[in-house]
Amino acid sequence: MGALIVLTGPSGVGKGTLLRSLIQRHPELYLSVSVTTRSPRPGEIDGKNYYFVSRSAFERLVANGELLEWAEFAGNFYGTPRYAVEAQIRHGKRVILEIELQGARQIRKNFPDALQIFILPPSLPELEYRIRSRAQDSEAAIARRLQRACAEIEAADEFDIRIVNDDFAKALDHIEETLFATAAR
Ligand code: 5GP
Repeated sequence: MGALIVLTGPSGVGKGTLLRSLIQRHPELYLSVSVTTRSPRPGEIDGKNYYFVSRSAFERLVANGELLEWAEFAGNFYGTPRYAVEAQIRHGKRVILEIELQGARQIRKNFPDALQIFILPPSLPELEYRIRSRAQDSEAAIARRLQRACAEIEAADEFDIRIVNDDFAKALDHIEETLFATAAR
């Protein structure tokens, strides 16, 4: 049996970079590719970073029950394709979902055995700096992401494990230890 692993944390906390390194070290883990109505950022590839879809296509996926969970985030919709995840789990793979708080709560309700990890920034000013230095989002989007970040951080206690991404290498080791110490879950 495989297992679901949920990784949540505010926008800009560095979840994506941590996950890329984790998958490099452990290619046996499967990172779910989400569907989104957000436009691709420079360098993002359809089918790799996300499946970029129209609003109407997203609504069809929801209506047809093809998403395991979904949520609205900063003006766009995001969701986890159900069939790919279920197939990987059937094949005994451990599947990682990198999703925001509302989605994490849906997964917790439907898959109580999922391991839930929350990544925290060293501080709020540091998070704001990281979000701004990405410099790919509009001022309004940055403001929405910051507001959302504060709300997400307040919910960190709901998660099984909390990891501060202060020192990248340490945070990565901590995620790794968590995943492999709990492999029997
Ligand atoms: P971004 O636009 O920065 O790529 O992602 C914005 C937020 O959406 C991040 O917190 C990310 O974890 C979350 N997200 C990405 N894919 C999904 C998904 O499939 N479901 C949910 N609920 N959140 C997602």
